[in-house]
Amino acid sequence: MNYEIICSSCNKPAESLLAFKCSSCGNPLSVHLHDKFDPAKIRKKDYSGWRYAESFPYTSKTEIITLGEGWTPLVRFAKNIYFKLESSNPTGSFKDRGSTALISAIHKQIKKTKGHITEDSSGNAGASIAAYASRAGLKARIYVPENVSGPKFSQIQFYGAEVTKVSGSRSHVAEAAQKATEKGFYVGHILHPLFRDGVRSLAYELAEQFTWNMPERIYLPVSAGTLLLGIIEGFKHLYASKAIRYMPKIVACQTEQVSPLYNRFRKLPYEPPPTLNSVADALVSVNPPLLDLMVKGLREVEGATVIVKEKEIYSAFLRLAKNGFFVEPSSAVAFAGFMQQTDKKELEEHEKAVIILTGTGLKTSLQPR
Ligand SMILES: [Zn+2]
Repeated sequence: MNYEIICSSCNKPAESLLAFKCSSCGNPLSVHLHDKFDPAKIRKKDYSGWRYAESFPYTSKTEIITLGEGWTPLVRFAKNIYFKLESSNPTGSFKDRGSTALISAIHKQIKKTKGHITEDSSGNAGASIAAYASRAGLKARIYVPENVSGPKFSQIQFYGAEVTKVSGSRSHVAEAAQKATEKGFYVGHILHPLFRDGVRSLAYELAEQFTWNMPERIYLPVSAGTLLLGIIEGFKHLYASKAIRYMPKIVACQTEQVSPLYNRFRKLPYEPPPTLNSVADALVSVNPPLLDLMVKGLREVEGATVIVKEKEIYSAFLRLAKNGFFVEPSSAVAFAGFMQQTDKKELEEHEKAVIILTGTGLKTSLQPR
């Protein structure tokens, strides 16, 4: 085999593509590729993330479930500043990269058992998984927090997923989804290694769109860590394959309220506020299960972290909108991080930066002030 899925802690191989954690120690699983990234193997006529199908060896090309995700626009905003419009993915966020990889790999196996999938989310990931499950003809049951509302909740239901509301904290919701095992297969986007792994296509795309000359810095919002870890894996693969000459500096942007990575990275204590009320309402992982992996990954690639204040987020959101880029406030966190580093003169004059605009503004419930 040209890949393996093993435990990130004890190295035990996963029992199947359906496994979402190590059967021995319970720690997260990770995909390891044995083949190098070869630009000559890009399927140039495929204008989706599946142009890199060669680098996703656990899915057979005839079983791909796609809605045309990926190959999103890269737009020059100003001198040395670029936006990657992940908001233009089919369900409105970068999560579609994870869903297409995961659902493509497992849908046949689940159909054979006449089972369904379960997932916990109240937002973009729930909507994305629901859409890809529908496309594959799979039943999806999405577990959501009791107080869920707004456009994302409607979107999940319109895709035809069954929704179960769970009271209590966000981790209660995850537990309920994991326990529902009778004919249910848990595909939680945070834990399932194939979801995170699907995000690698974003790194390949950036490299190809920049004609293999990477910008010096990449800014992205971080909550549960799937975007961060996926992009790190993609760039590590490109670098090890000598497809790019250096690693871009990956800047993980968090909010003052939800900053576990920022704090751990700097060896500072972190105490989340009793309630979250940030305008960046998709960034809610105060105790992310992948935190250790995130810290390790970010150190390995010599990345950085920033935190931004509420007023910085709102002003970044407005500045983007007033330039025609309508993203969800949580996505504006990355642009706020970039603006903060620019103000502090942490970027050198010649440095190019790309900001990942992760999700569309059309799902926000924010009203103009
Ligand atoms: Zn293990």
